[in-house]
Order: sequence, then C-alpha cells, then structure tokens
Amino acid sequence: MTDHAFKVEDPYLWPFWEAASERRLTVQHCRACGAHQFYPRPFCLSCEGRDLDWVDVAGTGEVYSVTTVRIPVSDLLPPPYQVALVTLDAGPRLLAGIDGPPCRIGDRVRLVWREREDAPPFPAFERVTP
Ligand SMILES: [Zn+2]
Repeated sequence: MTDHAFKVEDPYLWPFWEAASERRLTVQHCRACGAHQFYPRPFCLSCEGRDLDWVDVAGTGEVYSVTTVRIPVSDLLPPPYQVALVTLDAGPRLLAGIDGPPCRIGDRVRLVWREREDAPPFPAFERVTP
C-alpha cells in the first residue's frame, strides 16, 4: 500500500485506492464465474465464490440514476452539484460525482479523476457528448 496520509479504514478498499493513486479504476473479479463487483466483498455476489482478484476496467458507462444536491454537506462540495449512480460497462455500479455539464439518466459518461491533496484522486464522471 502506498503511504498516503489518507487513511482507508476498510481493508477491502485498499486495492481500489492503491489503483486510484495510479489513476486506474479497478473492481473485484470472480475467478469462478467471471462476474465483476463493486463495492468489494469477501465473496462473489453472483456465485458466492471466494476466489476473487482485482482487475482494471474502462471508466466508461451509463448514468443509471442521478440527483442534484442542493444542501451543503461539506465545505469541499459547495452545492449545487450532481451525484450519479453509474453502471460501468464492466457491470458494477459506482456512486460518484458528475463534473462538467449536467447529466441525465441514460447519458454515456467517462471517468475523470478529481485531484486531492494527501490522498489518491477521487473518481468522478463527465458526460460524453456524441
Ligand atoms: Zn462468482
């Protein structure tokens, strides 16, 4: 694990943030059935197998659901801003912020990294204009 001042309490997330520090998006992969999953777990949600590894996936997907946050919850995130549940082309859904123009359900999006001090960059998405 890279030595970040940023501390991740959940060890299941260490590989995710390690990859993020190299601007790679990684999700769990089941060697038994081939399913991908995120949030990481000690077993496969599809077959309950425990032979899991991590694989890099393309940061492309589609907006499954989206909302606009209008109430301040953090000094780092002045409202309004969008948060979306994105279905990655690899299968799993990821909850992340939307950068750039607003998104709607069904929009194609691609991964962008939000840089942070003393922590790996945070995944976000931006709309892909056709
Ligand atoms: Zn499986």
